[in-house]
Amino acid sequence: MIWVVRAWHAILMGRRPALSVELTRECPLSCPGCYTYQAGHLGGAVGVRDLTDFTGDELVERVMALVGAERPLHVSIVGGEPLVRYRELSRLLPRLSARGIHTQVVTSAVRPIPIEWASIRNLSISVSIDGLQPQHDARRAPATYDRILRHIDGHSGITAHCTVTRQMARRGGDIEAFVSVWSKVPAVRRIWMSLYTPQVGELSDERLEPDDRARVIAELGRLGPAFPKLRMGPELLAAMAAPPDSPDGCIFAKTTFCVSADLATPVTPCQLGGRPDCASCGCMAAAGIAAIGRHRLPGGLRIGRIFDWSLRVGARTRRLREFVQRRHHGRRTADTGQPEEPVNRATSPRTNAAR
Ligand code: SF4
Ligand code: SF4
Repeated sequence: MIWVVRAWHAILMGRRPALSVELTRECPLSCPGCYTYQAGHLGGAVGVRDLTDFTGDELVERVMALVGAERPLHVSIVGGEPLVRYRELSRLLPRLSARGIHTQVVTSAVRPIPIEWASIRNLSISVSIDGLQPQHDARRAPATYDRILRHIDGHSGITAHCTVTRQMARRGGDIEAFVSVWSKVPAVRRIWMSLYTPQVGELSDERLEPDDRARVIAELGRLGPAFPKLRMGPELLAAMAAPPDSPDGCIFAKTTFCVSADLATPVTPCQLGGRPDCASCGCMAAAGIAAIGRHRLPGGLRIGRIFDWSLRVGARTRRLREFVQRRHHGRRTADTGQPEEPVNRATSPRTNAAR
């Protein structure tokens, strides 16, 4: 509830409470169904691999500048593969923690997750696992089951995150077996399950049919009481079963600013990019926030209604602030007779840097 109040305040101030950063354009894997490298991910012909990304001090300082400009409450570090930049993350993560920001690193665990990360406050590490070992190893080599188990050893707060595809949904018993296997791993604190979210018009082996979705959601509901590490409560599952028709109905999309590997190009409408088929969305983060939005306060008002109203107020606040900043900047330029300063790309994330 405290997070909701802080997020509400941020929205009223014209800010988005969550930031998602594609930290690097690099990844040693080539997973089927990966949305990061799909054509159209960034909304045009330019792909993530065409962008200029950063390394070393420059990456750390640019991310901190972006965080300073956006002032998010929650930061997701996604890929590419974030562990490609593990040295930079080892400097960045403690700084985010020191600012009281909750950070989530989403990784394939293709290399060891530094053990010192286990003691960073407000950090969660989510490892993406594509079903049971034979299927996962075929899809995600070199980040195989054996490697993941070695690379998370010694940790205690790992989230095992599986995105259920149609193939997995139709192999009887896979979901329960997956939850059972990862429940027994000491490093794993919780298990999250998403459903594969297709792009509009996508015909792929991963895409679930409505019947598949309903069956998986019902099974997750049935498994919950037997597997305490499976954190998929009834409210979240109900939200997952009834996704919005478009990004306009998605609180997650409207409250998260997603940026690609040049720290400037926005990823819209959500971190999936492209034209996601919202009506088939299975993103557990979006469902989790939608579940919060469905809660009713005493008096019956839904939290989602308050968020919608606050987003409209926040948009006006933001426009007003930008107007004042532009006028202030214009006066300074007129006073000094100097041309406008070049835009700092790291702190101007809404610049579309397609190149
Ligand atoms: S690890 Fe992630 S970014 Fe890399 S190919 Fe797989 S899904 Fe895509
Ligand atoms: S998270 Fe899901 S519902 Fe929200 S914009 Fe993305 S695809 Fe649509």
